[in-house]
Amino acid sequence: MPEIRQNIATKEWVIISTERAKRPEDFKTSKQKEPLPEFSEKCPFCPGNEEKTPYETYVVNGPNGKWKLRSVPNKFPALISDLTLERKNEGIKRSISGVGNCEVIVESPIHNTTMALMPENDVRDILLAYKNRYLCMSSDPRMKLIVIFRNHGLNAGASIEHPHSQIFATPVIPFHIRTRLEEAMRYHDETGECVFCKITKDELNEKKRVVVETGSFLSIVPYAALSPFHMWLLPKRHMSTFAEINDNELNDLARNLKTTLAKIYYGLDNPDFNFAVRTGPIADKEVEHYHWYITITLRLLRTAGFEIGSGMYINSSIPEENAKYLREIKTR
Ligand SMILES: [Zn+2]
Ligand SMILES: [Zn+2]
Repeated sequence: MPEIRQNIATKEWVIISTERAKRPEDFKTSKQKEPLPEFSEKCPFCPGNEEKTPYETYVVNGPNGKWKLRSVPNKFPALISDLTLERKNEGIKRSISGVGNCEVIVESPIHNTTMALMPENDVRDILLAYKNRYLCMSSDPRMKLIVIFRNHGLNAGASIEHPHSQIFATPVIPFHIRTRLEEAMRYHDETGECVFCKITKDELNEKKRVVVETGSFLSIVPYAALSPFHMWLLPKRHMSTFAEINDNELNDLARNLKTTLAKIYYGLDNPDFNFAVRTGPIADKEVEHYHWYITITLRLLRTAGFEIGSGMYINSSIPEENAKYLREIKTR
């Protein structure tokens, strides 16, 4: 029987379509992928091509003295910092100047690797770079929100295959984030509890949808997962912004994220995916109602008319089955 489930944090509804539910292994990507070379002469992020990107804002060097991670301003930024923040309200025309900051974190000198295959320490270096760039960008008083994300594969919108993440600072709180903040605040008003802490506690008790549990984090396929293998990775400790993560938690997040991504990589044959850190706004540090997390969306299917018309998703797989499948995948 189909069931319509709601995520109590976001209030989003999803149809869990048991009639057309597929088995977890049916979601393995069938297309043959050309193996990538370790180095590509044309790639702007490969070693030796450093002059193709702007000067770096942050670098980590390896034991050989050469860089192993670099953060550089985006060469074609969507938002730029060298602007005055101005707001316009003229009838139906409302705008503010495109002030912001966009950086690219080149995660490795190796062209054909990915977080799922990297040593845990290298994943930790990437997460530490996220925190460093978050703190630096958030010191600009014009910025309201920091968005950290990663596109993996063509269907996820990655135009350059070399492993990289992106970090944006925006001068507005987008609608999508605002509704989540408002729902979280409403839940806190009504219950005196953080809805994400509640989800964490209940998921750990029930265990059915947990994929990877480490000391400070858990990854789950949420009860109302919007699409097959849609995942959330939550800190167990209540923290409203990503800036609040401590050193031990960074190590633990590296372990959890790498393992979770490796299970996806091996279990579903390296599918395209996006992940994003959903942190509270810069100014909402240490608030009681919001709790940051990472959302992982696999690009296995395309959005169809029903989703566009209703804003409601149809998930043709069962979250509990997806979680069980990934739990059993060996990550070598
Ligand atoms: Zn490259
Ligand atoms: Zn919480």
